Formats: sequence, structure tokens, C-alpha cells
Amino acid sequence: MKNLLSLLMATSLLVACGQGGDDSAATAPQEPMLKGRMAIDEASYEGHLRTLSSDEFEGRGPASAGEEKTIQYLVEQYKAIGLKPGNGDSYVQDVPVVEITADPSTSATIKGSGDDLTLTYGEDYVSWTTRVQEEVNVTESELVFVGYGINAPEVGWNDYDGIDVTGKTVIVLVNDPGFATQDDAVFGGNAMTYYGRYTYKYEEANRQGAAATIIVHKTEDAAYPWSVVESSWIGGKFSLQTENDNADKLAIEAWIQEEDARTLFDRAGLSFDDMKAAAAKPGFKAVSLNQTFTSTIKNSFKKLVSRNVVGVLPGAKKPDEYFLYMAHWDHFGVGAPINGDNIYNGALDNATGTAGLLELAEGFATGKPLERSMVFLAVAAEEQGLLGSKHFAENPTVPLNKVVAGLNMDGLNYYGATKDLEVVGFGFSELDSYLERAASNEGRYLVPDQNPEKGYYFRSDHFELAKFGVPMIYPGAGIDHLTLGKEYGQKKADDYVKNDYHQPSDEVKDDWVFDGAISDLRLFYDVGLMIANSGDWPNWVEGNHFRKIRDQSMQ
Ligand SMILES: [Zn+2]
Repeated sequence: MKNLLSLLMATSLLVACGQGGDDSAATAPQEPMLKGRMAIDEASYEGHLRTLSSDEFEGRGPASAGEEKTIQYLVEQYKAIGLKPGNGDSYVQDVPVVEITADPSTSATIKGSGDDLTLTYGEDYVSWTTRVQEEVNVTESELVFVGYGINAPEVGWNDYDGIDVTGKTVIVLVNDPGFATQDDAVFGGNAMTYYGRYTYKYEEANRQGAAATIIVHKTEDAAYPWSVVESSWIGGKFSLQTENDNADKLAIEAWIQEEDARTLFDRAGLSFDDMKAAAAKPGFKAVSLNQTFTSTIKNSFKKLVSRNVVGVLPGAKKPDEYFLYMAHWDHFGVGAPINGDNIYNGALDNATGTAGLLELAEGFATGKPLERSMVFLAVAAEEQGLLGSKHFAENPTVPLNKVVAGLNMDGLNYYGATKDLEVVGFGFSELDSYLERAASNEGRYLVPDQNPEKGYYFRSDHFELAKFGVPMIYPGAGIDHLTLGKEYGQKKADDYVKNDYHQPSDEVKDDWVFDGAISDLRLFYDVGLMIANSGDWPNWVEGNHFRKIRDQSMQ
């Protein structure tokens, strides 16, 4: 039902676009614009994909020998395609990162309301700091429960209203009140919003002046089990290097298991369930747990440089306006062996997207000149927390308010052409209508995210540009296989998640076929083509969090 509603909304959006002014894409002649378009070369796509995901490229880990090979390959291809350097006279943008490894022998002590309570690292909680310091301390910092930790002025919701958390340790729930209530009128209902992501919780708590932030983990709310938190938080983690070594960031970022959080509430004489329910309602007030948090993190760190690769195809009429295609080139590199294989090839994730990026660049470079310019951005260190795209967004090589819109590719179809195409974050921006048009020209149809509660829109690189207001569309793959149907496509998609996602077995398999990726790339191409040859400035839809940011950036 929800899907049907979203589709209806998209249809009315198309109609709305058609009523726009002279610049509206919908009023422009459609057919001629798409005539003579590229035939994306399947053999060439497959060649890039096989090369990038070969063992020789060692899984493309950041700042590794595999990175060196990848960057060389991409720069060679950009040159051969005829792209201009996108960062001054270079195709490369340095991304300074730091790998921080916390000593796992750390612990945390809760004081007040009875005997001291010790939380065991890994078992009860995990913690980290982005501060590049050998030792980071938080000492007897008051624990405050701030509900979902959301400050959303556009909907008049502020969990920090009336409380000063400077120097305090905030305990915060993951996800958002919409998920808790399943009320579509509240924070998008079941679908996770930007405010539901853990990264937002830390960022907002830091803006509020907190010393430490502890997110309460619950599998359904987070969309992944504690084991994922454990495996991704224990051991080395990367952050961007900054001039002040992240001294202005939270001292401690942590997660706690829900049962341990319950203990803290019990000790304060509060019911966790009651407080959680209250946090999902408007007018929630933050409450002190009358206990303090004390912890020391001992770090070792390594400063490294990874690299984005950026090329530009200058437009003929409006060269200072851009459409941007992006894909992350990195994966996990060489790591712990599984079934005797220690190379995390990242064939689907994201040699497919990177190969697609090269094919799109080639297609545009060999096609008719465009009015606007095109940027082709292969970003680094996505798997380490979207770091390459974050660095690009903070240090853009072209002004972000001149980037009309963009499209991100992270994992393309490997099981054959489909009638449908999933759009993650469907309904967020007016870009849907362009993709919708491209799809219907091919007799294909769009479907909204199949798992909006997982917040995938906020988990890949385009999100870092969206945070600065740039309208970004993030298509996934379809499942409605041309000849074998939806069940087949769904099974293939599920199989990948179950068996190969972030595993050394993410390799090009004998049964992989590429016509699906090629037909999807044609649609991605058409979206860029329509926008590059128009005067359109598609925006976020009314009420979307990023719209105000965009509007302000355009002034
Ligand atoms: Zn990826």
C-alpha cells in the first residue's frame, strides 16, 4: 500500500513538473533529447569490472598497494576517455585520513545510585574517539537521557530543549520517533530519516556540547545486530584528518546494548520502556539519570593519505554548471581470511559502480557536446565511513551550489535485465521524475526502496553531498527479471547479502551477466543528459530536510 502511495505521489510530481516554466524538463522536447544516445559497451564495462575486482588490485583498500593500482588505472582511463583534470591540473584529490585503534582493554564505570557499575568493552558497550590523541578521558560526566537526540527545527522537534548538556554524557535511542510509532505523519513513519542514523546522533550531541554520547542498541531499531556494531567498532577505524586533530569532536562515541541501558535506568528508578515511549511523543523532556560516566580510551594511530579521482567534461554553453556522477572505488583490501581467501575484492561493492562511472564518462565524451559540464567522481574510503565523499563535500573542486544535481552508484545489477529499478530515497527530490521519464521511455518502471526502515539513503556517498544541499539520486537495482520474474531477482539480491556482502567472496562469478547493469546505466545516462541539456534546477521536495540547506546555499 505504501509503495502504491509513493508511486502515486511520483506521478503527481511529474504532473507538477510539467506545469513549470520554460525551463521545465517536462515541457522540453523529449524524444530528440534521447535520440542518438550512447550504446554502452558491455564488453568494456565487464573489462573494467574484472580488472578492478581482480586479485591483482588487492581489494582496493585505502592507502594500500591496491589503491596505487586503482588510482593509476582510473587516471589512465580518465585521460584516455578525454576527461579534463577535475582538481586544478590534477585528476587526484588527496584525502588525508587517520586510522585510530582503541586499546580493547578499556572499560567504563558508572557511579551514583548504588555501587559502582563496570561496563565491559565489547560485551556491554563499544566506544571510540575520532580525536587523534593517545589518551582521551571522560571523568564523572553526568548521564542524561535525551530520547532520540533530535533537533529538527523544520518540524518543531527538539529533544535538547530546556537542557544544557555541555560536558555531559548523553544516552540516545537509535532510529526516530516515526519508526517507534509507525505513524507516517511523524518523521516519515517506518522509513528511517536522516535523524535516525547513528552518525546524526553523534553530530547533534557534539553541536550541543556533550562530552560523550552513548547510543542504545536494539537490533530492530538499528536494522543490524550487535555483532555488526562489535565487528565494525572494535579494531582500527578511520576518520578524516583535520587541522585540529578532531579536538572539537566528541571525546567518546559509544554504543550500549539495550539490556545494559535498562540497568542504568533501573538504577535511576526510571522505567526504560516508559521513557522510550515518552521519547517518541512531542514535548518529550530530557532527563538526568543521576549517575556519571567515566572512561579512558588509549589509542594508537596511523596517518595516511587516500585519494579521490575527479575528471570533468566541460559543457559547451554553461561550463560552470555541473551534473555529477559518483561511485566509490574502494573496498576493504586484504583482511582476515574466510575459507582461505583474504582478498576482499568488492566486485559488486563497488567495482560495478566504478566500471559504470567509466562507461558513463566514455559515453558522454564520445557523444554530442553537452550544454552543462559533467563531473565524474570516484571517491575513496566509503567503506570507512563515507570519508572520500565527505572530504570532497567539505573541499569541493567545483562550487557545490553550481552542481545542479548528481547520481551515485553503489552496487549494480549482476543477474540480468529487469523491468523495474529501485530508487533508494524515492520521493526525496524532484530527480525522481527524470529517472521516471528515462525508465518509461524504455518500458521500465521505478519502485521505492524495498527497506526504507534501514535508512540506506544515508549509508552511501551521495549523502555527504546531500548534507550540503546538492540534490542527489541513488538508484539501486531492480528485481523484476525480464524473463525469470521477481522471485528470481529477489533471490539473487538476497543471496548476495547473505553470502557475499563485505566478504572475500564478493567476486565476479561464472553466472554473472551484465545486460542488467548496462540497461540501468542507460537510464542513469539519460538523467544526466536531460539535466545537462536543460536549464532545470531540480530541488528536494517541499518538507525534505535538505531543501532548506539547498535554498540557503543558492543565495
Ligand atoms: Zn559500497
